[in-house]
Amino acid sequence: MKTSLKPWISDLPDYIAGRTIEEIKRKYGLSEVYKLASNENLFGPSGKVKETLKESIESINYYPDSDAYEIRSAIADKFNISKDNIIMGDGTDQVIEMICDCFIDRQDNIVTADPNFLIYEKSALISGGSAKKVPLRPDFSQDIRSILKALDSNTKAIFIASPHNPSGTIISKEDFEYLLENADKNILIVMDEAYYEYMPPQKQIDTVSYISANPNLIVLRTFSKIYGLAGLRIGYGIAGAEIITGLNKIRLPFNVSSVAQKAARAALADEDYILKVRDIILSEKEKFYLAFKEAGIEYVESFANFVLIRTGEKSGTIVEDLLKNGFIVRPGANLGLSGYIRVTLATPEINDKFLKIFMEIYKKSYME
Ligand code: PMP
Repeated sequence: MKTSLKPWISDLPDYIAGRTIEEIKRKYGLSEVYKLASNENLFGPSGKVKETLKESIESINYYPDSDAYEIRSAIADKFNISKDNIIMGDGTDQVIEMICDCFIDRQDNIVTADPNFLIYEKSALISGGSAKKVPLRPDFSQDIRSILKALDSNTKAIFIASPHNPSGTIISKEDFEYLLENADKNILIVMDEAYYEYMPPQKQIDTVSYISANPNLIVLRTFSKIYGLAGLRIGYGIAGAEIITGLNKIRLPFNVSSVAQKAARAALADEDYILKVRDIILSEKEKFYLAFKEAGIEYVESFANFVLIRTGEKSGTIVEDLLKNGFIVRPGANLGLSGYIRVTLATPEINDKFLKIFMEIYKKSYME
């Protein structure tokens, strides 16, 4: 059959999602499997969110509030901004997609680091544009000066992830300000801060406070990571009213479910829970680092809830052996970093089990 599929659609890169717990249980006949592959919060959402979720079931026969008034008002209060500066998405992914739909035409490009979260490039390609990719520095940080050099007259947006996925590195305040000052004001700067709440406070940049002076800046945040709502799909963008009005023009009605909106409101109200999770993950990361240092294994210092570990040429068999033992991790090869694996930090108990098995597998792989 001859169809009129747009010519570039079949060439789009596939996003290889983390494998599911059920799939691995079936495949290896395991009763217990831990998914440490997609940077979810293994503590789950707060108790208050779970309560709200039970109540929210009563109204799922109604369409959600298409304008997401309550959750946008709650976010506006948190940042002390107007709700007209906020757009909600069915996950941050959808906000990224809307950005590319609105800003990227054929011939246009985005500039981003290589590697980076794949959805930036994929969304630009879907819109008929392209992605110019700038290698990370040897320490895995995003090279802001090289990114600036890569801009051309067709560049419409720069995508920065801080913390960066898959490395967990961040950009400094100096680099962020340098980028704002030196990029052409017609180029959109997207600061994707999906893992922001996991950063130690002294490293967090108050990016939202730069929006009023920089109408080309958009900050992305999500409820999928520390808030523990990945399965509900809800994220948001914060920007000047002009960008938000544009994005709203193409936003599908009812794009965020009523359950997700209510859960996100409850999650935002329980700040204590978020700080507790952050502090546990910060100390668990130190435990990981110590174990890797003792074993002489290289890793990248991370500001998110995952760590990139250098597993070398045996990475493929290490990933497979971890699966057989009930641990799903993300092979770096799927993320543009062969020779590495990316592991999500979980609860202290799961982390201890992981470290024990990982060390055994790693040592065995390189002794044979
Ligand atoms: N940005 C980055 C850097 C991410 O790692 C992810 C999730 N993998 C997202 C955005 C998408 O998050 P969401 O679940 O809100 O679509």
